[in-house]
Amino acid sequence: MPSFFDTSIEFLKGVGPQKAALIGTELSIFTYGDLIQHYPFRYEDRTKFYPIAQVHGDMPFVQIKGRITRMETIGEGRKKRLVARFSDGTDDMELVWFKGIPWVSKKLKLGVDYVVFGKPAVFGRKVNIAHPEVEILTTQNANAGFLQPVYHTSEKLKAKFIDSKALSKMIRQVMVLAERHIHETLPESFITRFGLINKALALYHIHFPSNPELLKKAQYRLKFEELFYIQLRLLKLKITRIDKYRGQVFNDSKLLTDFYNDHLPFDLTNAQKRVIKEIYFDMKSGKQMNRLLQGDVGSGKTIVAFICMLLVVGSGAQASMMAPTEILADQHFEGLKEYAEKLGIGIAKLTGSTKTAERKRIHEGLLNNEIQILVGTHALIEDTVQFKNLGLAIIDEQHRFGVAQRAKLWGKNATSYPHVLVMTATPIPRTLAMTLYGDLDVSVIDELPAGRKPIKTIHQYDSKRLQVFGFMKQEIAKGRQIYVVYPLIEESAKLDLKDLDDGYESIRRAFPDNHISIVHGKMKPQDKDFEMQRFIRHETQIMVATTVIEVGVNVPNASVMVIENAERFGLAQLHQLRGRVGRGAEQSYCILMTDFKLSKEARTRLETMVRTNNGFDIADVDLKLRGPGDITGTQQSGVLDLLIADITKDAPILQAARNAASDLLEDDPDLTKPENQNILRHIQSLKKSVVNWGRIS
Ligand code: ADP
Ligand code: MG
Repeated sequence: MPSFFDTSIEFLKGVGPQKAALIGTELSIFTYGDLIQHYPFRYEDRTKFYPIAQVHGDMPFVQIKGRITRMETIGEGRKKRLVARFSDGTDDMELVWFKGIPWVSKKLKLGVDYVVFGKPAVFGRKVNIAHPEVEILTTQNANAGFLQPVYHTSEKLKAKFIDSKALSKMIRQVMVLAERHIHETLPESFITRFGLINKALALYHIHFPSNPELLKKAQYRLKFEELFYIQLRLLKLKITRIDKYRGQVFNDSKLLTDFYNDHLPFDLTNAQKRVIKEIYFDMKSGKQMNRLLQGDVGSGKTIVAFICMLLVVGSGAQASMMAPTEILADQHFEGLKEYAEKLGIGIAKLTGSTKTAERKRIHEGLLNNEIQILVGTHALIEDTVQFKNLGLAIIDEQHRFGVAQRAKLWGKNATSYPHVLVMTATPIPRTLAMTLYGDLDVSVIDELPAGRKPIKTIHQYDSKRLQVFGFMKQEIAKGRQIYVVYPLIEESAKLDLKDLDDGYESIRRAFPDNHISIVHGKMKPQDKDFEMQRFIRHETQIMVATTVIEVGVNVPNASVMVIENAERFGLAQLHQLRGRVGRGAEQSYCILMTDFKLSKEARTRLETMVRTNNGFDIADVDLKLRGPGDITGTQQSGVLDLLIADITKDAPILQAARNAASDLLEDDPDLTKPENQNILRHIQSLKKSVVNWGRIS
């Protein structure tokens, strides 16, 4: 049965099929329901009237009561304007129009009481308002006290007189009709527990707030509801998966004991131990694990991953580790191979450049369990790659993988899903993690290995380059290695960026006694690899590179990271790059080179980098600067298409909503209790509206 909210807006007074169609294409508003959910994006303060004597040019929009005492058109041609003298009895000011003069001058009458609304400005030492809104004073607008909602609209719509005001009128029509149809969508207990106003009231006051307090309550209530339903869905997904998919039970810790006793290269940090315990607990539990492992750069996720593999391999199953780039896959492979071989574990690497014969050998080895650990890139999720029994799938630096690719890994076994561990190198703010990965359990490595000295970060202008070179020479003399990173490969005349080759040349000239590696994205994989290996073996002292070294590369002896044109990089990227140093016991440095001229945002990024080494702090700033969509990439932005909540600002509401959802599911997992029936109904209607969205876009 179609509900009231599915009614097409064409049936509203003054709309009709043509306007309705245009509103549909321009704003994706088709139904009464869509219209009611077209929330204002800001409000103009109409809560008070100002005496003209108090109005000055720096004020935002103001509202004034008064009369027009005189009107005249002055000037010629482009300078022609209509000037009205406006008085409130004690003082007066000018109202000015440059366009629509014949129409406005006909409409406005002398001596009539008006309400004027607009942005004051100073013109020739006098305050005036250009193109104000003018309304006749009525009993409705006389007692001020409301906030004028402002709605998104479009130029095309405005041309047809469908401006913010017109939308507001349409919404008012619907709200009057809707009164009987708006049902509460949250349980009564929430309303009291969280001090919420009810749904109908919230919808009314979001569109027609009579005062700022009520507006705040309406916003809180609607944000809470929006976030609550997202969290409820995510948590429910998780419960369903736990119920539906049995996880393989892995119990044999023999390999772990061997490794611990004989081969562990260093003491694990407490955070590493805790995280390993959490993961082991999951894999022994009989439930299928889906866990996100967050850890700052250099916190030692690789060894954690390996130790987790040991439980699986020791119990007779297989493990895989997928990395986003070939270089990183290589590095993981080299690192893990060293450990694996000591324990007699079969390990192989599969990437896009693996030769056919080797590929064949790997396919066979996976099926007969001779290969127990497979490291690789995307190549690993191709359909031809079949395991005897994949027990644990690890994804490193997962933000580069789409959700679909993750899902593909889950399907690698015919009988049971592997446990899944997603590792992120760039910390994600909690709020974002809760929304993007709300269906995963989260482990955090919040401690760096002992003995690490915090990296010192310095911002230097290009004019100090010679000093920077001098510093680099000192460090090289101490036996250290240095990265110099450039944002682009080819010179773009317009952007006036220092190109990698230029940089390479000048460094070559400045460091005649040193060997220099160069790596960039346009090189063949073997050449890249050759250069990387030279640097890793310390045959070269300086690595000049583009961002290909951004992720994961581990050369503990490298202690200086120079980032050229640092203003061109995003915060997450800068933090990743900086994470390439500070991996050994030596004091490490990160030098951010920029031109003198910087945008405000770039300055904030650089200051943040200088101020903190903490990836979570940086992620928070990043989220505030860029907003959630950009951080996650478009493929996941759908999750974050929120109507009213803003996860960068509404963290406390999000947390409250998540707790509420979790308590609710604990109390009534299948939502069968009578008091939760409205929740169930609302979920159904949300599902339906998702289908509708699909049809539209
Ligand atoms: P990331 O979390 O960024 O992937 P890695 O796993 O690459 O970090 O580890 C960074 C460096 O720290 C490596 O050289 C690794 O061997 C070393 N490492 C990891 N854990 C410890 C530890 N507990 N004590 C000392 N060094 C460690
Ligand atoms: Mg890593």
